[in-house]
Amino acid sequence: MSRLAHSTHTDPLATEVCPVCKSTKYMNPNLKFLVNPVCYHKMCESCVDRIFSHGPAPCPIKGCSETLRKNRFRRQTFEDIQVEREVDIRKKVAKVFNRREEEFDSLREYNDYLNEVEDITFNLVHKIDIENTERRFQKHEDDWREAIKENASLAQQEQMQYAEQQKAEREKARRRREEARREEIEERREAEATRKDMLRRLENGQDPEEVKKERAAVQLKKRLNKQEAADRQSQLQAADARNGSSSFVIKGLKNKKAKLEPEAPVDPFGGLTFEHRYFALQGDYVWEGLQEAKRDVLISAGGYDIASFTGRALCEAFSGLGVMVADEAVEREKLQEPEGLSTTRAEVAATDVKMEDPF
Ligand SMILES: [Zn+2]
Ligand SMILES: [Zn+2]
Repeated sequence: MSRLAHSTHTDPLATEVCPVCKSTKYMNPNLKFLVNPVCYHKMCESCVDRIFSHGPAPCPIKGCSETLRKNRFRRQTFEDIQVEREVDIRKKVAKVFNRREEEFDSLREYNDYLNEVEDITFNLVHKIDIENTERRFQKHEDDWREAIKENASLAQQEQMQYAEQQKAEREKARRRREEARREEIEERREAEATRKDMLRRLENGQDPEEVKKERAAVQLKKRLNKQEAADRQSQLQAADARNGSSSFVIKGLKNKKAKLEPEAPVDPFGGLTFEHRYFALQGDYVWEGLQEAKRDVLISAGGYDIASFTGRALCEAFSGLGVMVADEAVEREKLQEPEGLSTTRAEVAATDVKMEDPF
């Protein structure tokens, strides 16, 4: 038994077994599997024919109580049946929740809407709170029936437009290629003609230097003409793009003027400042010991910064000023009293926060 289980696990063909009639892809290479989007149980085509030809019937998979119809069976698109199911659900949700960004006044509203759509999709996919979710889904469908229809036809129009644009662009590209090919042939023909002309002139006894010079002048003129044509072409294309024949479309919110307040910069310390309350740190001090240390190469070579020493020394000197021993003693006594314990604790916590940074 364990060997059998093992073999079904390793052999990819063994997984292609119809759970109803047990025929395998190995025995019958033409075996085709179908699924029904009601319960997503997989079975072979002949089983579907046999069981569901005479109308709706219960799913033959053990433990499944769904009633299935033959016309709903279809080929599986994705190998993973969970993916197949999720894609179906997403399609179904997207058909009803098809509002567009242009319908919203602010990005916040649009994002809230998208969030709601994703919530519903997630619940349906993972079968969470199905009843409530179905109700929300139905409510949206009822409330927005007209808008849904409008947006659906709009989307269809856009798709058709897009397809047309694509076709036009392909046609344009084809014409450009043809043009380039034609030009190349023309060029080759002209080069051949020029060569023949030159030979003929040399035969007639013209000065070779003169002929060479003339040829160079003709070539230069041709090149300039070509460049001019290319410039004209690119100008035309730019004008086309300006007139909106380009496929690039910018979409956005309905009310584009509604500017949101810029968000305040993030304050990682929650308003805590590092300014010193009791002293100000100077850039330099006249104390001789400090000046000596500053001049001493042995000290400065190691990267020692005099400012870090003065800063720390001042901090240590003034630290005590933020601590009121008498107040603390009173608070400690209060803490020992059983009454109003929680409020006292809160007060102590508040003063603690203040004392954390006395400067
Ligand atoms: Zn079968
Ligand atoms: Zn089933």
